[in-house]
Amino acid sequence: MTADFKVTLLGTSSPSPTIERFGMSTLVEAGDERLLFDCGRGAIQRLFQLGPDYPRVDKLFLTHLHSDHIVGIPDLWLTAWIMGRKTPFRVWGPVGTADMMAHLEQAYQADIHIRRDLDELLPQSGIDFIAHEIAEGFEYRQDGVTVSTFDVDHRPVTPAFGFRIEYGGRVVVLSGDTRPSDNLVRHAQGADLLIHEIIAPQAFLSRAAQMTEHHRQAVIEHHTTPHQAGEIFSRISPKLAVYSHVIGGPGTDYKAELIEGTRATYAGAVEIGYDLMAVEVGDEVRIVSSRTDA
Ligand SMILES: [Zn+2]
Ligand SMILES: [Zn+2]
Repeated sequence: MTADFKVTLLGTSSPSPTIERFGMSTLVEAGDERLLFDCGRGAIQRLFQLGPDYPRVDKLFLTHLHSDHIVGIPDLWLTAWIMGRKTPFRVWGPVGTADMMAHLEQAYQADIHIRRDLDELLPQSGIDFIAHEIAEGFEYRQDGVTVSTFDVDHRPVTPAFGFRIEYGGRVVVLSGDTRPSDNLVRHAQGADLLIHEIIAPQAFLSRAAQMTEHHRQAVIEHHTTPHQAGEIFSRISPKLAVYSHVIGGPGTDYKAELIEGTRATYAGAVEIGYDLMAVEVGDEVRIVSSRTDA
């Protein structure tokens, strides 16, 4: 009945530019709706791997404006126009989103002018954008799909959002970037699938020698450790918890650190996400992609 509710992790990285994990981006398909959440590095490549029409997704929700969640926007917005998107690109995000999109339009003015007016004569409608600046409590509703916005704790980045997506009586929650957040626990009750960010501190520190001590501490304090994540999961009891936005590794023992740390505080189902992992949310919550790696 609700097997048409599917989440695909397009990119699962932190800012680290690894080839194994592209930038943070998550696709949610529910009925006829195709919604993108964050658009980090390589989002359009991952979408294209799903099928030639996927890059034409035209609804994007942003958790916050850190660059690792948005640097893929111009690529998706411009390239999908060349690939045939004729609909305006709609973006929902925190304050600053409208300015960012207007500045992107300015930055790429030469290309837009050439392709629209001189060369390919691509339609204006396909490069138009509509930016909505939203806050906690905002709801998007379309064809039985509801996306609810709530605040998480990624201070000093405020606001930073998590999203609760409901369809056919099932619930998917995306944490966004956050340290342990009581507000997330409140808004994630009843989740079938919880996608949560994570940092493996030891793995991260082992690869962060070039950072200042201040920078290292800031990174660890702005995110959620495996031990903390397990406590969060225990208060929500999702059918499945999946880690994305993985900080730490590759080339480290981060997977063992993630699982051992989580197991100290949580006994339920948890998986380490990877690029192109897909999860079907129906009577069961099950991983349907065959790819395994990283
Ligand atoms: Zn991030
Ligand atoms: Zn962030």
